[in-house]
Amino acid sequence: MSMHGQPPLTGRREPWMDDLLGDPSVIAQLLETHGSPVNVIEPSALSRNAAELVDAGREAGVDLKVFYARKANKAHALVTEARDAGHGVDVASLAELSQVLDLGMPPERVIVSAAVKSDQMLLRAVRSGVTISVDHVAELHRIADLSDPGRPTPVAPRLAPHPDTGVPPTRFGELADVWLETLAEPIDGVEVTGLHVHLHGYAAEDRARAIAEATRLSGALGERGHRLHFLDLGGGVPMSYLDDAAEWDSFWGAMRAPHEPESLTWRDHALGNVYPFHQSPTRGAWLRELLSLRPDGGATCAELLRDAGLALHLEPGRSLVDGCGVTLARVAFLKTRSDGVPLVGLEMNRTQCRSTSDDFLVDPVLVRTQPAGAPCDGFLVGAYCIEDEIILRRRMHFPDGVAPGDVVALINTGGYLMHILESASHQLPLARNVVWPGLTLDGIDR
Ligand SMILES: *Cc1c(COP(=O)(O)O)cnc(C)c1O
Repeated sequence: MSMHGQPPLTGRREPWMDDLLGDPSVIAQLLETHGSPVNVIEPSALSRNAAELVDAGREAGVDLKVFYARKANKAHALVTEARDAGHGVDVASLAELSQVLDLGMPPERVIVSAAVKSDQMLLRAVRSGVTISVDHVAELHRIADLSDPGRPTPVAPRLAPHPDTGVPPTRFGELADVWLETLAEPIDGVEVTGLHVHLHGYAAEDRARAIAEATRLSGALGERGHRLHFLDLGGGVPMSYLDDAAEWDSFWGAMRAPHEPESLTWRDHALGNVYPFHQSPTRGAWLRELLSLRPDGGATCAELLRDAGLALHLEPGRSLVDGCGVTLARVAFLKTRSDGVPLVGLEMNRTQCRSTSDDFLVDPVLVRTQPAGAPCDGFLVGAYCIEDEIILRRRMHFPDGVAPGDVVALINTGGYLMHILESASHQLPLARNVVWPGLTLDGIDR
């Protein structure tokens, strides 16, 4: 689509994205009004993505509830979408918590999973009646102390699966034995309503092992007088940005084959740590597979959960906002590096489309504002005064040319890419967030 890396990696687009990208005057108006870059959010895909998970749960006879991981994107529109579709939300800070309560999310549909919890945040949580995912024993006692014994706080202790089960070591949670000892008797001020597990990565096998261990722990806690009704398996539900597996394979084939210096990536970066931008299975199909795994060789995960009387809660971030966002940035200048390497300067900085991965491996779409020109190449560079201030590490090809005033549309940036690392360094303003189709500012910017 008028610009691509080598070999191309074509991002899947929602119909609303095609409508937006097909209307250069609307895009020009947006950048004029809000500056560059601007994030456009369309929340409706969230409900569709969540329904895939709920349906897969229902088919397996598992009561499945979705809590949107708020940190994936700060837009209020996505919280409202989750609320209206009957889903919940997972929050990681006082600001995230206060905002979702102010937006009318019922407290019983909120879980606080912040890795570090201030007294101020805990007080707000305790008073509002939301569920708290408890990371360690000292935190449990802090929550109990802050709570009114007459109105115990619902808590979900976080289980760190035993390393002997094959799940990689994790900083999150405590071992089952620690919780069993701590919760040998009920504790005033807290009511254990479920268990939480937060695992790195996307492996279904790790999650199956965690389900086996958590259902055993739930049973043992039941014998000690606790009444648990859910297991929260955290996030990490996989998704694909690219529809075409062949493109993904040829890209890595080209990266491995001998090639001219900087013909594929800036300074020949190897892109060792990247998200699997194409993978299978994803979302509903992935969950169906997970629920049919037999972690101990006996019962399936679905049967383990049903037998334990536990609903399955998921906290997807990225895969829930798949299809919900586009980032638009204006081309500011064309030039060459001192050694002749071609550069395309964008009015944005690299924190405005960046996750913890080495690169965002999805081709942008170029919205041209001028008649087609001669084909050319270029690396997208940004606003920070740093030699490696590069927006995408792949070298881009422009079959119809590119010129200042054109707009580069980064596709499907709703999950993390817009916000998780954004910075106001150099005192450059943060990007504004507008909601499609009205194109009014999202609540976060009002
Ligand atoms: C980040 C996070 C998630 C979401 O992870 P995804 O990979 O985006 O699905 C869910 N739960 C917790 C506790 C998290 O920290």
